[in-house]
Amino acid sequence: MNNCIFCNIIGGQMNAATIFENSEFKVIMDRFPASRGHILIIPKEHIENIFELDSETGSRLFALATHLAKVLKQKLNCEGLNVLQNNGVAAGQTVPHFHLHLIPRYTDDKVSF
Ligand code: 5GP
Ligand code: ZN
Repeated sequence: MNNCIFCNIIGGQMNAATIFENSEFKVIMDRFPASRGHILIIPKEHIENIFELDSETGSRLFALATHLAKVLKQKLNCEGLNVLQNNGVAAGQTVPHFHLHLIPRYTDDKVSF
């Protein structure tokens, strides 16, 4: 989809700090991070939300999220971490291409959603 921010990042037409990539997913730093180390796991296929996500892709995505959560904890020494995933405008989704947030948390970091 050429008017989709994340498709443009995946296609290389827009820049993003990429921390991991394979044939199925791209992991980038959030441009407006809620905390230090806030990343987004994005399926390369344009699907809008969880209602379009097949469970096998979802399983692989969550396996990757589990691994990256541990990497963030080890590298950044965060004390906690939020996994966030918004679906639909009513739920606060602002980019209509599925993505999972990993948001490292630090004591007294004052992050709110
Ligand atoms: P949502 O509100 O849809 O769950 O999250 C969208 C996320 O994408 C937000 O955290 C926002 O900061 C991030 N974002 C929006 N535009 C860009 C961009 O151009 N590049 C990157 N790296 N992140 C973006
Ligand atoms: Zn897209």
